Amino acid sequence: AKDAGRNVYRFYSDDMNRSAQDRRGLEDSLRRALANGEFYLDYQPQIDMHTGGVFGVEALLRWNHPEDGLIPPGRFIPAAEEMGFIRRIGEWVMRAACLQCRAWQESGLPPVRVAVNVSGHQFNQPGFIDMVDRVLEDTGLDPTLLELELTESTLLEGARDTIMTLIDLKVRGIHLAIDDFGTGYSSLSYLKHFPIDRLKIDRSFVRDIVSDLDDRAIVEAIIAMAHSLGLRVLAEGVEREDELELLRERGCDEVQGYYFGRPMSARDVEARLRASSPA
Ligand code: C2E
Ligand code: CA
Ligand code: CA
Ligand code: CA
Repeated sequence: AKDAGRNVYRFYSDDMNRSAQDRRGLEDSLRRALANGEFYLDYQPQIDMHTGGVFGVEALLRWNHPEDGLIPPGRFIPAAEEMGFIRRIGEWVMRAACLQCRAWQESGLPPVRVAVNVSGHQFNQPGFIDMVDRVLEDTGLDPTLLELELTESTLLEGARDTIMTLIDLKVRGIHLAIDDFGTGYSSLSYLKHFPIDRLKIDRSFVRDIVSDLDDRAIVEAIIAMAHSLGLRVLAEGVEREDELELLRERGCDEVQGYYFGRPMSARDVEARLRASSPA
């Protein structure tokens, strides 16, 4: 077992020249992780600036490895994508997030949407919509309580007809957000064709928004553009009150970040929703 642990470790590097043996090692570990329940989700609150309330939570994947401990998603998702295993993991995430959201509804909490990160390798495969339908049917979650977070590269590099897929999701009532907005593409023309609800401004622009006038100008431009296209804007990675105030003045609709809460367990989300909802 110790050897297996060490074997897994090599995948956390960015080495693209992994040997076939290394790949098998990681795939075995990921398979085992799914089978043994080593994955779980944390949830980070998303706050409406106008009401101050939590309108949604973003599901974030965690791997509690028996030997290596907690492994953050950035250290295994890229490798899982590379080897095609992200589809299995992505389906597990979708199911777990929808089940949890349904459970919150059942327990009488105010409606809260769950946002699920979808990798391009998952979205741009033929069975994606069928998988979403299956999960919604199995879990009984109201589709309007599900949001999918897609990056610009996922939407623009796909071989399939992206617009048709997005429309298929929209007609079900599912919400769609563009994640890490501003980091991907210089062309913005796709925004007028895609049925998107929300832009999530990447944390890299929010981080220095108080001190860096360029970053501030970019955030202002994104907010103005989003509003004129009828989209809502969420700023990621808000850590301080002065950042929040600046975003509020600029008309940003929604925020997410350590200032309002780190990613937390489902139980902690529930306690927080209970505390903030009227008795
Ligand atoms: P992301 O989708 O951009 O998620 C936001 C990341 O920023 C999360 O890191 C979150 O913990 C972190 N964060 C939130 N607020 C703050 C803040 O105020 N300050 C700072 N410094 N960080 C903040 P995390 O959980 O490590 O996830 C990293 C990335 O892994 C995610 O970036 C996403 O791309 C990917 N990921 C996570 N879960 C999943 C999943 O279920 N499926 C897929 N395909 N990707 C996932
Ligand atoms: Ca995200
Ligand atoms: Ca993001
Ligand atoms: Ca900067």
